Amino acid sequence: MLTLLYRSDAVSLLPFSALADICVRSSTNNRRLGITGFLVEHEGTFLQVLEGEAEAINRLFARISKDERHYNMAVLGRWERPGRSFGFWAMNFGPLDNPSFWQGRFADLRDGEAFRLRSGDAETAMAVLCQAYVFAGTVAGADPVIGDFVIG
Ligand code: FAD
Repeated sequence: MLTLLYRSDAVSLLPFSALADICVRSSTNNRRLGITGFLVEHEGTFLQVLEGEAEAINRLFARISKDERHYNMAVLGRWERPGRSFGFWAMNFGPLDNPSFWQGRFADLRDGEAFRLRSGDAETAMAVLCQAYVFAGTVAGADPVIGDFVIG
């Protein structure tokens, strides 16, 4: 099972509806490919983690890399792991507009430029994605940490 983590910059700031559209289409595609993952966007910076069989991930990532809605892509990590850590959704995104998300360890990342600068650090990027994933589960009234199935 391959886990791939990358960051990128949006070509232009996307409204919520455009992000939701990416996620709805992605979840349909990813479910078919046995891929799970999570996406966050903050003031024009994307972080995404994808999990699945290596061949499926590599093929999907090649397609995402050609997407003209973002640029400056940088792969922050590729790890072979026995299981999934983001297995609850085939794709979902964490809108980071809730002030409580930015309390504590992420307080200094709330500023969009600070977030962009730090987004290239794999440990920070993964920590943000993990927190946003759990946060999204709470908002959805679910506990994604104990769920290892794909709901959409
Ligand atoms: P089409 O849908 O035919 O699109 C071809 C190209 O047109 C795209 O590559 C894109 O450049 C452009 N395009 C498509 N829709 C729009 C639009 N609404 N506005 C502007 N340009 C558009 N796809 C997944 O399947 N799984 C993912 O996990 C995933 N994650 C993504 C994360 C990010 C940050 C972004 C920006 C995109 C992501 N996508 C994902 C979308 C992916 O890049 C492809 O657009 C999608 O997979 C459809 O590919 P397609 O070859 O069928 O192309």
